[in-house]
Amino acid sequence: GKKLADLEYTNRLYKKAPFLYAQVKPTPLKEPKLLHLNTDLFERMELDPSLKDAPSFLRFLNGDLDFEGLFFGASFYSGHQFGHYVPRLGDGRAITLAEVKNHLGEHFELQLKGSGLTPFSRMGDGKAVVRSSIREYLASAHLKALGIPSTEALAVITGADDVYREEIEKSAIVLRVAESFLRFGHFQYYAHTNQKEELKELVEFAISHYFREYHDHPNRYVLFYQEVIKRTAKLFANWQAVGFCHGVLNTDNMSLLGLTLDYGPYGFIDHFDQDHVCNHSDHEGRYSLGNQPGIGMWNLERLGEALADFINEEDRKRTLETYPPLFLYEYRRVLLEKCGLYKMHLDDEDLLRGMLNMLVTSKIDYTQFFRALSRYEKGSLVLNGFDNPELKEWLARYEQRLVIEEEDESSRHEKMLGRNPKFILRNYIAQMAIEDASMMPLVFQVLTNPFAEWEDFHEWSKPAPVKYKNLSVSCSS
Ligand code: AMP
Ligand code: MG
Ligand code: MG
Repeated sequence: GKKLADLEYTNRLYKKAPFLYAQVKPTPLKEPKLLHLNTDLFERMELDPSLKDAPSFLRFLNGDLDFEGLFFGASFYSGHQFGHYVPRLGDGRAITLAEVKNHLGEHFELQLKGSGLTPFSRMGDGKAVVRSSIREYLASAHLKALGIPSTEALAVITGADDVYREEIEKSAIVLRVAESFLRFGHFQYYAHTNQKEELKELVEFAISHYFREYHDHPNRYVLFYQEVIKRTAKLFANWQAVGFCHGVLNTDNMSLLGLTLDYGPYGFIDHFDQDHVCNHSDHEGRYSLGNQPGIGMWNLERLGEALADFINEEDRKRTLETYPPLFLYEYRRVLLEKCGLYKMHLDDEDLLRGMLNMLVTSKIDYTQFFRALSRYEKGSLVLNGFDNPELKEWLARYEQRLVIEEEDESSRHEKMLGRNPKFILRNYIAQMAIEDASMMPLVFQVLTNPFAEWEDFHEWSKPAPVKYKNLSVSCSS
């Protein structure tokens, strides 16, 4: 493994587009303390194991080390917040330290979140609280473990400083990691301020680094836009299928690479409900579970507008129209896989619609349903732990549909158990780790292996116990 200073500092975006960043030094927390370290990511970054307990590493995570290779930048972006364009947002409490590369050629952009004021902090304090930082830290690793593209986090630390929200809370910093933190809002900012050369630099950089297969193609701008659309459609389909509600799908929270980005008041559903709104400040339900797919398309249209200098209106429109079928194809594919159905059948759409309707009206726990279905035995017409007439009716249809599958029961079960998680990050699970830091290692281990049985933690696979029932998640973080 390598010492911090020996990593390969590539800083490609910073070198090519320094205008994107305002230079700013982090504000370290007082008496920093490690809450958790993602050892898997630590290893992928090829860091030396001896660093784990080194004071210098803690200083690094606290934004308190400076050495050759780090550039400390907060980036410019704008975006549509709840449908309204805000001309200047930017990294108000995030500072990118550097981009590094491992020996496999994988790039990691390292970004502190909660490390103090930047030129984009506006009315904010540049800080983050332990509550929201643990939620981001856990969720990003959890989604990745569920097979859903996401930013990650190397570590979360806390400090002695107080942060003022609805009440006084403890401060924290998360070191976030992603191949790139580029957002739709970055492109919107340069388009709306008419900085044409900068916008072109950014577009060309993105294509030649993150969408390299189109780099030399005469039609590369359209293909680039098409690929962002495709990744977004797949991401949103996978959110829907697992029952994940992002909560704040503003265009500045949309990753160009199709990653889940900026975890705030997100939530997983208990029972299937398209009207579920996880963000208690979202009074109109703009970002409800059922609205998410359409919002993805709306946001992609805003990205398209920012690319108007590169793609004409007709091509933009034509390309954007591929989003609904791409989304539906992926959504159906994933749902069928969750049902252990791998053949194609004309009635599948009807079967899935029937299933979702049954899940709405029966209010059966969404995650537990699929986990139980993963052990369904032909001919039984029951799922262990559930007794419901609508479910029984649907199982009868499912039973008939299974006939055309060739797989034997045990291999179907095995595949489904690897597709339907036993554990999802219900709000109360995060809350346990927030209230008792000693729970972090266990909670992290279970959530990053959500398909395993973990018999000892069986209770965590269930909806919230009474004491956590009224947990509400606000936007303040
Ligand atoms: P978000 O709603 O978290 O996506 O943030 C929207 C904008 O507000 C971004 O420009 C953030 O950087 C900024 N922001 C959010 N919280 C803070 C804070 N505590 N201090 C400074 N800026 C913040
Ligand atoms: Mg944001
Ligand atoms: Mg945020």
